[in-house]
Amino acid sequence: MRSCKHATELMSQQYDRSLKRPERLWLATHLMMCYHCRRCHKQFSLLEQSCQARREQMEQSPKGKQDD
Ligand SMILES: [Zn+2]
Repeated sequence: MRSCKHATELMSQQYDRSLKRPERLWLATHLMMCYHCRRCHKQFSLLEQSCQARREQMEQSPKGKQDD
């Protein structure tokens, strides 16, 4: 289905930019109707969570070792 591709695109974009209201609405509606995209959406949020955790880890760790 073509709309599934659009849904996946929106799902990946929502972390880079905030979706416009009609886009969010469209995605929410599609997720309600489409089991596959719901699963996909779950994967995306898990992925985003692990990315976020990694980012935080990197920010906490000291920037390189200073060898003097
Ligand atoms: Zn779908």
